[in-house]
Amino acid sequence: MEKLEAELREKAKELLEKEEVTTVIGWGAGWNPAKASPLFVRDAQDADKLVFNPFCQNNLAVYLPRLNEKAAVITKPCDAGSVVALIAEGKIDRENVKVISIKCPGSVNPAKLEAAVGSLDDATAAYLDGDTIVVEVNGEAKRVPFAQVALDRCYLCNQENAFGDIVIDEGVSKVTGEAVSIVPEDADSAWWRDFWAKEFDRCIRCYACREACPACYCRDNCAVQALRERWTGAKLDAKEALMFHAQRAMHVAGRCTECGSCERACPVGIPLSLLHKQVGDAVRKLFDFNVGEKADERPPLEVFRKEELESGH
Ligand code: SF4
Ligand code: SF4
Ligand code: SF4
Repeated sequence: MEKLEAELREKAKELLEKEEVTTVIGWGAGWNPAKASPLFVRDAQDADKLVFNPFCQNNLAVYLPRLNEKAAVITKPCDAGSVVALIAEGKIDRENVKVISIKCPGSVNPAKLEAAVGSLDDATAAYLDGDTIVVEVNGEAKRVPFAQVALDRCYLCNQENAFGDIVIDEGVSKVTGEAVSIVPEDADSAWWRDFWAKEFDRCIRCYACREACPACYCRDNCAVQALRERWTGAKLDAKEALMFHAQRAMHVAGRCTECGSCERACPVGIPLSLLHKQVGDAVRKLFDFNVGEKADERPPLEVFRKEELESGH
């Protein structure tokens, strides 16, 4: 990982020194060693503050539609599709964005890590040591196999052909493992209805899921929020929360790359990825469309094909 991080810093420094970009968006040290934070580097001298490790969680593509300058963004292969999708939607100018794509070993799922080693609040160090994640708390090093605490999506990840203007590949091996599904094989619509009713009953409507989502770029005119604004602290009606999420899921249908950023941002651990995967599966089936693959193809639900409507297909 050190070599990878060193190369990343070098590339960032070069882009800033040559004034090819005015900012590099990456990750830096977080308030806690097990949680990296987004970092905007504008001075080449600060490029050494960039980090890359399994604790880099945020999908940094979320910042691109808000910028009005030439920027480089560091992406894991799973997040690079969000940049492609934003270009396809015309939300970012291809000329203004450089994508530094890093072949990555996988990311830690903080909930799994906390279940394995306890609270991360007092961690003084956290790092990947071979195939083991080490978290130091009060002088004690707690070790857990990376495979046990990785994001489920990392087990299935294929990093071939990841989109990027600059690809950093230091040959780190990717975590392997098996995802354990919480959905029973015979889950039917009644099961799903009960499941989501219970899950969304816990939603405090903080909007962190929306803020973390690269596909949710409507800053001042979010249709979902405009209907009836609610904020944390109010006792919320579970049906209202369900409507909020159902509507948001439809709004990002065909544009959501299933990056999981919304789920990771949720303070109460609602498994939003399941919802977006279901919608994503439907889009793939109905429209034969894979979000984030082509920068020159608009998402299917944005395209009105009159001839298809008339022919009934
Ligand atoms: S899914 Fe996991 S392994 Fe694949 S690019 Fe994303 S973080 Fe890395
Ligand atoms: S809805 Fe969630 S999974 Fe989909 S793009 Fe947005 S943050 Fe990623
Ligand atoms: S982040 Fe979680 S709690 Fe907040 S609005 Fe989204 S689902 Fe609800």
